[in-house]
Amino acid sequence: DAYLAAIDAANGKLNAYVAVTHDKARSMAKASDARLAKGDGGALEGIPLGIKDLFATQDVHTQAASHILDGFRPRYESTVTANLWADGAVMLGKLNMDEFAMGSSNETSYYGPVINPWRAAGSNADLVPGGSSGGSAAAVSAFLCAGATATDTGGSIRQPAAFTGTVGIKPTYGRCSRWGTVAFASSLDQAGPIARDVRDAAILLKSMASVDARDTTSVDLPVPDYEAAIGQSIKGMRIGIPKEYRMDGMPDEIEALWQKGIEWMRDAGAEIVDISLPHTKYALPAYYIVAPAEASSNLARYDGVRYGLRVPGKDIADMYEQTRAAGFGREVKRRIMIGTYVLSAGYYDAYYLKAQKVRTLIKRDFEQVFDQGVDAILTPATPSAAFGIADQDMASDPVKMYLNDIFTVTVNMAGLPGIAVPAGLDAKGLPLGLQLIGKPFEEETLFRTAHVIE
Ligand code: GLN
Repeated sequence: DAYLAAIDAANGKLNAYVAVTHDKARSMAKASDARLAKGDGGALEGIPLGIKDLFATQDVHTQAASHILDGFRPRYESTVTANLWADGAVMLGKLNMDEFAMGSSNETSYYGPVINPWRAAGSNADLVPGGSSGGSAAAVSAFLCAGATATDTGGSIRQPAAFTGTVGIKPTYGRCSRWGTVAFASSLDQAGPIARDVRDAAILLKSMASVDARDTTSVDLPVPDYEAAIGQSIKGMRIGIPKEYRMDGMPDEIEALWQKGIEWMRDAGAEIVDISLPHTKYALPAYYIVAPAEASSNLARYDGVRYGLRVPGKDIADMYEQTRAAGFGREVKRRIMIGTYVLSAGYYDAYYLKAQKVRTLIKRDFEQVFDQGVDAILTPATPSAAFGIADQDMASDPVKMYLNDIFTVTVNMAGLPGIAVPAGLDAKGLPLGLQLIGKPFEEETLFRTAHVIE
């Protein structure tokens, strides 16, 4: 009731939730009470969570913040959310996001932007919470849920976590099932939690992760007790500092934050090693070929026949066109056009195939570093703190918006786990995050090292 009241009071301003499931929350909480009274509560019994609108929730609003999915209520539950409910968690509602998870500011949502609960000192200007999981990050930051689900294709868990002073982990590709999560770029998409601290993130990920026969890319490995990793010493661990992440024009305060992070690691007994990831500079352009290519294919299913919105036309082809024209927003259309272009017969080799090769090189960069005994890599999470709503630079130039992902996309391209952890405030009092990148399926190392920073 306290969380529902907090949502009802704050959501008019923050716009973090696109649907609040009052009745369902109360009935799930009652069922939790009954289980607790019998002494058989699960790991998340009674914990109220917000769910990103990308996860299919049975009979509940699921629209990926898009107009084209108007009225869609799936008859099935995503594996990730089913896992959470099986452990006793309670659903508060569905969280706002960029349309189909495409964006870095939560401004592409059909439901309008989410407002970051943080403001710069002495300013009343509204800031973005980051994207695409902006609703998840804002809701956790503003105490409108105890934790949230999120997804990350190129940074959408870690960048909003960094912008809101929360913790977000993108686990290794395959750690969480993608079944029932609306697909953006299937070879990059991973679910993960956004939480108030590293421990909460560890507890949530333990529950979300599972192998799943309905997602053949999910991996059959035991899910460790991540919480047990927290508080373990990092003495003797080797932390890599990649020189290619020291970008031209990186703001001094980001550089200073990174330096502080290095010192904290060293003080905790870790060994700092300079490393090189030479293909880093190609990651962003390659990502913005691979992700739109997969998106254009995944989004072909929204044709007015099977889901949501249908705009009648003269004939079926006209109906498809009218529906897609009215149903998709500008950024989604841009991605579909880029994607179909790079996959087209004449350009496939020059763009898509090339980007796939670059992807392999990026993956190899990481493999070489890990082979040399590096346990985790420390970088900034974002190139800046949260920026203003309707920022002119970003709005007029999509490439500027894409630059937000500069430190995060490499991790998705290589399928690795990455965590963003709050590490301090900038000169205006806004949160900044550091990122730790780990070896495949070694999320425990990330929880251990991130806990030293938080
Ligand atoms: N900002 C990136 C994009 O727009 C990443 C999005 C995401 O991780 N879902 O594609």
